[in-house]
Amino acid sequence: LFSGRVEFLLSAPQLKFLPEPDFPEVAFCGRSNVGKSSLINALTGRRSIARTSVTPGRTQELNFFEVGEPTEFRLVDMPGYGFAKAPLKVVEKWRKLVRTFLRGRVPLRRTMVLVDSRHGLKDSDRDMMTILDEAAVGYRLVLTKADKIKASELEKVAALVAQEARKHPAAFPQIHITSAEKGMGLDELRAAMLFDVRD
Ligand code: GDP
Repeated sequence: LFSGRVEFLLSAPQLKFLPEPDFPEVAFCGRSNVGKSSLINALTGRRSIARTSVTPGRTQELNFFEVGEPTEFRLVDMPGYGFAKAPLKVVEKWRKLVRTFLRGRVPLRRTMVLVDSRHGLKDSDRDMMTILDEAAVGYRLVLTKADKIKASELEKVAALVAQEARKHPAAFPQIHITSAEKGMGLDELRAAMLFDVRD
C-alpha cells in the first residue's frame, strides 16, 4: 500500500481550503527540523513527496497527500512549531489553524507527534500534546533520528517520553522509535497507521 500510490492533493493555508472529509486521515506534526519531511518521505517510499521547510516559521499550511489506489487514507503534514524566533503573530496563526483543525476534523483518526531522539520532549511538544488532549485526538509519540544517538541514551529518552505520555489522556503509551535515514521502525509505524485508519 505505502509503496503504491502516494500523491500530493492540496495545501490548505486556511481551513476553508480543506478537502472534503471523504477519507480517514493521519496527521504528522512536530517541531521545525524534527525530521518530519524525511519521515513522511521514508514511510511512503518517495524521495521528496514532502518538502523540507525551507524557511522555518514560514510554512503555515496543512498539506494533504492521498495514499493507496483507490485512496485508502490521507496523510496530513502539519506546519512545524517551536522556532525560537517566530513572531508572535505567526505563532498565534499557527495555534488557531491547528486547534481549529484538530477540534473539528471528523475524519482525523490519529496524529503522530514527532520528537527528536536527541532532545526528548520540549515545552512546545507538551503544548502540542495538550492541544491534542483537549481536542480528544489520539496521538502516537514518534522519536526521530534514532541513528544519531547511542542505544543507551535512546533508551533513556524513550523511557522519559513514555513516562510523560502516561500523564496525557490522548497519548498512546507505546513510543515509536524511528530513523528515516536507516529505515528503522518504519514497518512498525506503517502497521500502526494502517491499524489507525482501518480501526
Ligand atoms: P522537517 O523540518 O521536520 O521536515 O525536517 P527534515 O526532514 O527536513 O529534516 C531536518 C534535518 O534532519 C535534515 O538535515 C535531515 O537530513 C535530517 N534528518 C531527518 N531525519 C533523519 C534521520 O533519521 N537520521 C539522521 N541522521 N538525520 C535525519
